[in-house]
Amino acid sequence: MSNNLTLDPTDWEAFRELLHRVADACIDQLKNVRSLPWSPVDEAWIQQIALGDAQEGVGEEQTALLLIQSVIARHSGNIHPKFFGWVQGSGNAMGLIAELVAATMNSNCGGRDHGAVYIEREVVRWCADCFGFPRSASGVLVGGTSQATILALAAARVWALGGEVRSRGSNPGLRVYASHAVHNAVVKAAELIGLGAASVRLVRCDASERMDPQALSMQIRADRGDGLIPFCVVGTAGSVNRGASDPLLEIARVCTEENLWFHVDGAFGAWARIGGEPWCELVQGIEEAHSIALDFHKWMFVQYDCGLLLMRDEKTHRAAFACRPAYLAAQTAGLGGGEPWYCDFGTDLSRSFRALKVWATLKAYGRRKLGEIIAHNCALAARLGGHIAGSASFQVVAPVCLNVCCFSVADSDDQTASGINAAIAVALQLSGEGVFSTTSMNGRTVLRAAITNHRTNFADIDAVFCALEKEVSRQRSG
Ligand SMILES: *Cc1c(COP(=O)(O)O)cnc(C)c1O
Repeated sequence: MSNNLTLDPTDWEAFRELLHRVADACIDQLKNVRSLPWSPVDEAWIQQIALGDAQEGVGEEQTALLLIQSVIARHSGNIHPKFFGWVQGSGNAMGLIAELVAATMNSNCGGRDHGAVYIEREVVRWCADCFGFPRSASGVLVGGTSQATILALAAARVWALGGEVRSRGSNPGLRVYASHAVHNAVVKAAELIGLGAASVRLVRCDASERMDPQALSMQIRADRGDGLIPFCVVGTAGSVNRGASDPLLEIARVCTEENLWFHVDGAFGAWARIGGEPWCELVQGIEEAHSIALDFHKWMFVQYDCGLLLMRDEKTHRAAFACRPAYLAAQTAGLGGGEPWYCDFGTDLSRSFRALKVWATLKAYGRRKLGEIIAHNCALAARLGGHIAGSASFQVVAPVCLNVCCFSVADSDDQTASGINAAIAVALQLSGEGVFSTTSMNGRTVLRAAITNHRTNFADIDAVFCALEKEVSRQRSG
């Protein structure tokens, strides 16, 4: 039996030194990130991280050394300035410090009365102001927009059908509306709350991938005529494929006329609101929503994971999720007091102190600078689009919108182009020269850059474009 039955270090001074060494390694990783791109996982590394049955621990020092000598280099690339794949945030240095402090505090933010929940309330308050919601709005930090979307649809259903839906279960006639360009998170949310994927009506878009509000109205009326129950419209602020935003003001008007819940998926695009002109105009109308789902871990550069569900009406929010069994009864004072408790705003009872990294990012850098970086990301996407448009080897496949640039090798044959595009993405990922992801557009696999990266500069874009040109000739000749 161990003679030291606690997990605290036996020698705090040795632990202090160890943590300082780890801190140095973390700082060096970020400081030198440009010369330390992602490195692929190999068999030897998998052996290094094997736990076996972990019957006996190896101690803090050996574990910490593994972290800094082995694990830290196997990041997923998104902290590097030449990473534009999928839509992934880069994190920030202040977030690193906040995470250290949050880990030390180890607060459970499900509720009660302690400092961490006040920080979360302040973050929610800031967001309510930022998105033009009333001060009485409520919100809850969650793992990401996917989670926030599930909560939003669940709340919208309670709003539409009343509180009994929580005991009675769902109504199969419910219908939710979103554009063809909607993120799959919305479909998944409909599946998970028991509406089924088929309850999501995909409404026609125009050529710029924006929902056609007239088609929306017509679909709603047709469904009502068939005895179905429309209850919610999801507008997109920043579509995942192209960065396009639905005409949110017009959708809001339709929702008012039809008495429907208006939810906005603003995972990354919502933040165009702080990017200044002309970007903020693209998401005009977001302030009319009943609820917004968005991420801090994408275009606010906060460490993973962190998203938000923002709700205009706190009463509706509470009606959808609040429940206080005896073991969670509120006290009038002490740690068990305070209001609101975040467990009343979502599914999670035990919750991490996600708010601190958001709070620290806002406190350290401020809205103005974050907005300037967002606008700069849009300029970087435009720069890449310019290079592509001027190249004989490539063509843009959709006008650059916001921070997203989709392009293809110039080839009239879809199959040939698709093959080369996919091969280029893989080759540049493996060589460490740049990360693009792929998507499908008009039957063709295309390359896509979504720039949500505060470390990227114009020189990075120019260098990555050179790498693209080199790789396409290699693919053509090979
Ligand atoms: C990323 C994204 C989501 C999903 O958000 P997660 O934070 O990954 O759960 C939903 N909608 C859009 C438009 C996205 O870009």
